[in-house]
Amino acid sequence: MHRPLYARIDPAAMAHNLGRVRELAPSARIWAVIKANGYGHGLNNALEGFARADGVALLEFDNAIRIREQFPERAILLLEGAFDETSTRLAVERELQLVVHNEAQLDWLEHCSGPRRLRVWLKFNSGMNRLGFNQAGFRQAYERLVACPVVERIGLMTHFANADQPDGTLTAVTRFEQACSQLPGQRSLANSAACIQVPATHANWVRPGVMLYGATPIAAQSCASLGLKPAMHLESALLSIQTLLPGDMVGYGSAFSAGRPMRIGVVACGYADGYPRSATTGTPVWVAGRRTRIVGRVSMDMLTVDLEPVPEAAVGAPVQLWGNHIPIDDVAASAGTIGYELMCRVSRRVPLVTSSAQLS
Ligand SMILES: *Cc1c(COP(=O)(O)O)cnc(C)c1O
Repeated sequence: MHRPLYARIDPAAMAHNLGRVRELAPSARIWAVIKANGYGHGLNNALEGFARADGVALLEFDNAIRIREQFPERAILLLEGAFDETSTRLAVERELQLVVHNEAQLDWLEHCSGPRRLRVWLKFNSGMNRLGFNQAGFRQAYERLVACPVVERIGLMTHFANADQPDGTLTAVTRFEQACSQLPGQRSLANSAACIQVPATHANWVRPGVMLYGATPIAAQSCASLGLKPAMHLESALLSIQTLLPGDMVGYGSAFSAGRPMRIGVVACGYADGYPRSATTGTPVWVAGRRTRIVGRVSMDMLTVDLEPVPEAAVGAPVQLWGNHIPIDDVAASAGTIGYELMCRVSRRVPLVTSSAQLS
């Protein structure tokens, strides 16, 4: 008998969401971003769901190598580039495309020999101030890449600090265009938010991540309104039911107290599974076919729910923490975080179950 908690992953929903990106950015090619184990959905599920993407982008070298072994022809992009001289050489050998964002990476490339077949993406710092060359160093970095014997092709890219705010994005686009003016090469700028609301950023390649998994990158726009389907359904069951009298408390710290007689369901899912402990009383949850709320504090292995809307629910009744009935973005909002974090934090003890069947 297994603990009844699973993350059901639906590669067909991922393929659908990829189709939405194609509709939004019809002239661009798509790097499907599959870093962090496909945003928690499992690498193989992501590779299946995004089989029709033009390439996949991640930053974990070991996974990139594994994908190359499985798919000799796929375009694979390493979003943080090489981490040392050895990984630079590995990228040349395996034809992994590299982002180049600092001087050290240029040095490693210059020390590299081999066939001229490495594709690189020179990264411009458009205001995030994390990775990338500033206006002053960008052209010089470009010239150094041109002179590198292993470099076959140079693309130009940037990553937005405020893609959910179109005005901020357009300022960054202007900076990027100034830095790149007259330089040949393909351009890549857009993450999910820019794919959705700033068509001026689509250029040659877009780089959507979170929207492909069915979470919104823009707080004001729900996934449903964007035509995106959730690819992860975190599901469990009731382990136990308690009947409370007025004044009875629930869970650690007695954070919730019953104002009237109540039935409380105990769900097999806690913060050790990746459910956010910051989710407070009122966070939505789906129990036995109806929407209800979490009450009291989320503990390590369990959480408690109000059974008032589902008087018939018994031990074993199905529960959905997030998925098609409960948008992950609603849980994230209740917990003071974003869908991205919830997806990525589903812990290793939660089995990922692939179910391509369309869910009702
Ligand atoms: C993660 C990442 C993306 C995808 O961002 P989303 O907001 O998930 O669409 C795109 N580009 C880079 C460089 C990234 O690191």
